[in-house]
Amino acid sequence: MSSEQPPKRAARAVTRGVPGALAAAAVPAAPHVASALAGSSPWAYAPAPESKELALIRPRYGLFIDGQERAPANGEVVVTYNPATEEPLAEVAKGSAEDADRAISAADRAHRKSWSKLAPRERAKYLYRISRILQERSREFAVTETLDSGKPIRESRDVDVPLAAAHFWYYAGWADKLQYAVPGRRPESHGVVGQVIPWNFPLLMLAWKIAPALAAGNTVVLKPASTTPLTALLFAEVCQQADLPPGVVNIITGPGEMGMSIATDPRVAKVAFTGSTSVGIKIAQGIAGQGKALTLELGGKAANIVFEDAALDQAVEGVINGIFFNQGEVCCAGSRLLVQESIAEEFVARLKERMTTLRVGDPMDKNTDVGAINSRAQMETIGELVASGVAEGAELWQPGCVLPDRGWFYKPTLFTNVAQSHRIAREEIFGPVLSTITFRTVDEAIEKANNTAYGLSAGIWTDKGSRILQVAAQLKAGVVWANTFNRFDPTSPFGGYKESGYGREGGLQGLHAYLRSS
Ligand code: NDP
Repeated sequence: MSSEQPPKRAARAVTRGVPGALAAAAVPAAPHVASALAGSSPWAYAPAPESKELALIRPRYGLFIDGQERAPANGEVVVTYNPATEEPLAEVAKGSAEDADRAISAADRAHRKSWSKLAPRERAKYLYRISRILQERSREFAVTETLDSGKPIRESRDVDVPLAAAHFWYYAGWADKLQYAVPGRRPESHGVVGQVIPWNFPLLMLAWKIAPALAAGNTVVLKPASTTPLTALLFAEVCQQADLPPGVVNIITGPGEMGMSIATDPRVAKVAFTGSTSVGIKIAQGIAGQGKALTLELGGKAANIVFEDAALDQAVEGVINGIFFNQGEVCCAGSRLLVQESIAEEFVARLKERMTTLRVGDPMDKNTDVGAINSRAQMETIGELVASGVAEGAELWQPGCVLPDRGWFYKPTLFTNVAQSHRIAREEIFGPVLSTITFRTVDEAIEKANNTAYGLSAGIWTDKGSRILQVAAQLKAGVVWANTFNRFDPTSPFGGYKESGYGREGGLQGLHAYLRSS
């Protein structure tokens, strides 16, 4: 058994109690309320902690291979930590290439002997069953996710878990209608699918990947991130509870290299990866020439563009939600605020006022807006990039919130006077850090928004529908939100351009990625 240093983690905020798209409609606090919320007035929030006991975390977890929990071949384990307290949560198997081989064999067998032979209608039943179990066990999943990742309980409860269940429900509907997904052609599954997922939305990324894969008739070997394995291992229990045939889903925990062992194995016909651009490139290089299908969902540096005619209070909420949701550890986070020069001063003032009301701290508290950063390493990455912003001449502002004594927390951070050449305007920070850039004309906004190596998402805030259509058509981003941000739906495809990767997840397009058709 090996014991390792607390792994890297990072996390960041959300808007006040209002997840995702709902945040855009929330009304910001008036100045007197804002100051009361920030201080110790009678208006201060009392603690509202969710119960940790709902999580039922076991002291040790093995690998989930062929429908059973198995010990790793090398007998090694790693510890997963609670980023909010730095306390160990559980020991988790540290799998290796040998375990990847076992899992792929099980998936291959299951594909040939059971899953691909099953009537599509029967496959759909399993997916519906999984969706129902996720809903029934939603509190347990939400608490486990928050303890393991550091994200606020309100987000895991209201966003991650319901959306994960919704993905299984949505793709269950497709399982017996595949011929309509590829009209005029014959849909076939790839076979064994290898999936590697990140730590920012552990259960949701699992659902984005496993649900369409199973609906299309594939079997799966999935590797969760080392810092957030617990909800994937809990999902293994759901597969057992749903009576899923052995080997259809295999979940193996282990280091990054094991992800590469999965991706490059010749029996794996399709690879799906979400994570950093650097690892995405390595995977693409590793499987080059093998004829595998590949989808990559990588980083981002989204522009959230606010025009002078926008409803400003609504735009403030949208910008807050865009960057502080999940502590900014979101690939599509609106990390670059592009604001029209004529309203920049007023907008930044309102933004600061709103930021002073964000509650940063215990992710298990139902009032918390900004939880813990997922790992120490991610905290250091954020700190290093913020220091570069200061060194390069941008102006830093943070609210006066007090961070907890323990755990990996980072203050919501706003940069103004940012130049496009600054690292904080170019690199993905993956933390609660917003870089503000101004523009004068529509053309300048579009040019600056597209001036990035990434192309995952963007936001437009304006009163004019025609301007939304004009600007959206010219933005090189896979997803463009208008007068809202971070709105997700299983029926809607998600994915990027340029260094944000290729392929789409979600919707019909997300199903196509798991089908070959002749
Ligand atoms: P990684 O890309 O390293 O991790 C994502 C997943 O890939 C994890 O499961 C990881 O495993 C696995 N992995 C790591 N190395 C390899 C490899 N050589 N071959 C196959 N799989 C591998 O992201 P980090 O955790 O290092 O985060 C670094 C940066 O990446 C962040 O700051 C952020 O900018 C970006 N990122 C983007 C995400 C997105 O959603 N687009 C998600 C996460 C990070 P393990 O955890 O065991 O290392």
